[in-house]
Amino acid sequence: MHVLEHKHQIARLKEELSSPKRVLITTHQGPDGDAMGASLAFYQFLKKMGHDVAVVTPNDYPEFLNWLPHNGDVVNYMRQKVLAEDLIANADYIFHLDYNQLRRSADMTNTLANATAVRVMIDHHPEPNLLVKYSFSDTTASSTCELLLTIMQAWNNDLIDSDIATCIYTGVMTDTGCFSFPNATARTFTVASVLLSYGIDRTMIYDRIYDNFSAQRMRLMGYCLNDKMEVFPEYRTALISLNLEEQRRYDFVVGDSEGFVNLPLSIKGIRFSAFFLEKEDKVKISFRSKGDFSTNDFARKHFKGGGHLNASGGETKMALDAAIRQFRELLPAYQKALNAL
Ligand code: 5GP
Ligand code: MN
Repeated sequence: MHVLEHKHQIARLKEELSSPKRVLITTHQGPDGDAMGASLAFYQFLKKMGHDVAVVTPNDYPEFLNWLPHNGDVVNYMRQKVLAEDLIANADYIFHLDYNQLRRSADMTNTLANATAVRVMIDHHPEPNLLVKYSFSDTTASSTCELLLTIMQAWNNDLIDSDIATCIYTGVMTDTGCFSFPNATARTFTVASVLLSYGIDRTMIYDRIYDNFSAQRMRLMGYCLNDKMEVFPEYRTALISLNLEEQRRYDFVVGDSEGFVNLPLSIKGIRFSAFFLEKEDKVKISFRSKGDFSTNDFARKHFKGGGHLNASGGETKMALDAAIRQFRELLPAYQKALNAL
């Protein structure tokens, strides 16, 4: 992390934002807990400073996030395009949270590219590729929320309150798999401790995120494990896929497949897992790994995606069957890497 550089940037931003500004906060498509936690935490923080703030997401996010403080203020580009375009065009500042490639804004990409606002990126993914005036990029941060907390502490610690802490904790918890993934560091636990000191209800947060599914979603999970999981022991790899018909059969809603990609990693010896989700216009793929196998490299190279070492995603316009076939055919080339200790 470039602490000094971050400090200088915060000092400059503090000065530039010392009078009320129109601020737009946005994040990547298919927002997750970190994306929404960071967006809504920063929304409250900037509002408390007196700015005119809006959060715009490119599209829908899972229902298990819609309880976050101030969720009702979020503007969804897909559903409120006119309002969202107006907010983007008239913003003085645009904050890009939890992503570092403009095309991750999906349908909002062009509008964002044409905006005249001053841009700021706050992100923890590798290889940033966003033209911004201020760049807060820290790949050692477990989550954008962890990085954002340190930025807010340096900016104005007094403004952090229990609602903001609740949003930040949600992002840290979801991006670290409840503090179990290797990205959870000593700093992450220190951050968690600071957040708890605001009196947040961490069991409530856990419950709303992880124990908030429909019965059909649990049955879908069972179906995936029983009927859809393919294991390739020679490559220490497993995959699960879901086509549109199967999603309809189980009343699938956004967020229902959250976490499915992690399930095969519970099998002894499995170190690489892929989950294929058929959508109307594309196939979305999630990758997870254990150890040194880089899902980021794999996703970038073969599926127009990216992410972190152990958690990445990508997509393809290929048909579902063809995408799965391509994945299978790629495995022999990685056999050595997947079997390395
Ligand atoms: P998930 O599999 O949960 O959708 O995403 C896992 C990680 O990969 C997240 O950090 C997410 O930001 C990143 N990711 C997912 N899909 C894509 C993609 O299409 N492109 C890029 N660059 N990153 C992605
Ligand atoms: Mn994140």
